[in-house]
Amino acid sequence: YKTDIKDMEHIEELGNGTCGHVVKMRHKPSGKIIAVKQMRRSGNSDETKRIIMDIEVVLKSDCKYIVNCLGCFITESEVWICMELMDTCFDKLLKRLKQPLPENVIGKVGVATVEALAYLKDMHNVIHRDVKPSNILLDTKGNVKLCDFGISGRLVDSMANSRSAGCAAYMAPERIEPDPQNPDYDVRADVWSLGITLVELATGVFPYQDCKTDFEVLTKVIGTDPPSLPLDKNFSPEFRDFVVCCLTKDKKQRPKYTKLKNHAFIKRYQVADVNVGDWYVKALHRVNDIRAPARHPVRQFFTIQQ
Ligand code: ADP
Ligand code: MG
Repeated sequence: YKTDIKDMEHIEELGNGTCGHVVKMRHKPSGKIIAVKQMRRSGNSDETKRIIMDIEVVLKSDCKYIVNCLGCFITESEVWICMELMDTCFDKLLKRLKQPLPENVIGKVGVATVEALAYLKDMHNVIHRDVKPSNILLDTKGNVKLCDFGISGRLVDSMANSRSAGCAAYMAPERIEPDPQNPDYDVRADVWSLGITLVELATGVFPYQDCKTDFEVLTKVIGTDPPSLPLDKNFSPEFRDFVVCCLTKDKKQRPKYTKLKNHAFIKRYQVADVNVGDWYVKALHRVNDIRAPARHPVRQFFTIQQ
């Protein structure tokens, strides 16, 4: 139904990104608590058209792996996109836990992301362009959902601006150094970003973390072997191979979603019984427990002395 931007009440800041910030808000008439992505507008009508198109994609989506979009407000200077509120994203979670995620949880993230990206391509002919841990959300019920189509676009769009979009750190080699014969990029650029994301979740650190600048990252992506899962850890052969497939440097050799959906890693975790919600709640309790004694160091010291 009709509602006004004045009906929205600020609760707290959820985070900042390159093209705006996300705020937890209350819709006063209904009492509903939601997440609102607030972005500045340059006022250019092309840009507004693109934003509305992106929102339409999300509004029309009924994929359980895509964050639910509730509508938007467009003012003179800003665009607000209203979404269902999730509990956290995988970037915040990694920083909170300060340790790698177990493979079975990563398996569920892989399934959700591949399904969401395949759905966007098949149903809306959209590529995401900004796949990374902060754009994969989760809640205590165990839902894992992809968000942020702020820079996604239709494949038919001119690719003029395509290189400026997305986060350098997760960018596929062909986006850094396009083939002059075939400069367009396709869904496989998102497949690369998914591979980087999964390695980050499995190791707890961003694979190019030693690089000081974006330029250094891009040079490494082009000039070195792709990241892979550390050999001394107990990952399944399916998981290892899935990462190798996603992080194939030559995009022509890199699989698209039809192939990925049939990969043993995805097949395995589609049917595996993994309670992501339960794991998340317990993991949070664990970090809270580890921190708790540190708040009373004096008392603890005294006890030890006794
Ligand atoms: P980025 O994705 O680059 O970190 P964003 O502005 O897109 O920047 O998002 C900022 C933060 O807001 C994210 O890291 C995420 O944790 C949080 N966030 C985004 N959307 C939601 C949502 N629907 N529910 C809960 N948190 C969200
Ligand atoms: Mg985001």
